[in-house]
Amino acid sequence: MTIPGRELTGTIKFAMQATKDLKLSDSVSHQSEVEKLGAELGHEVSKILTSKKNKDLFEALTLFWKQNGLGDIAITQADTLLVRLSDCYDCKGSGDGGQPAPCAFKRSLLESVFRDSLGADTIIEELECCKSGGTACLFRLRLS
Ligand SMILES: [Zn+2]
Repeated sequence: MTIPGRELTGTIKFAMQATKDLKLSDSVSHQSEVEKLGAELGHEVSKILTSKKNKDLFEALTLFWKQNGLGDIAITQADTLLVRLSDCYDCKGSGDGGQPAPCAFKRSLLESVFRDSLGADTIIEELECCKSGGTACLFRLRLS
């Protein structure tokens, strides 16, 4: 299986780096911009992950994330979907971090990917974050 979209990955990494460099004091004014960017890139990611079936989508997203050096991703499905991002490209070495909390970029990107790919409205929230002492960025998705 080949994963295209090297340029897309570069853009995602650039965005992650950029959001990391933003000052926390500016986070409110930057938040909506960061979310728009995350959503845009999420649309692009979902175009690459062409499969419409849940299992295949999860597998494709996991491969895309890992193979492009964005970090580790684990997706579990019960009543809700749990997406666990660890060793994140944008959280590594960030300490207290400068990224608008909590991970607005990744949240918007994931929301966009799942909304496009599953054709469902998605509400996503971050339950735990690397930047606030968590071991991973843990997102919960509710599909309606
Ligand atoms: Zn986070």
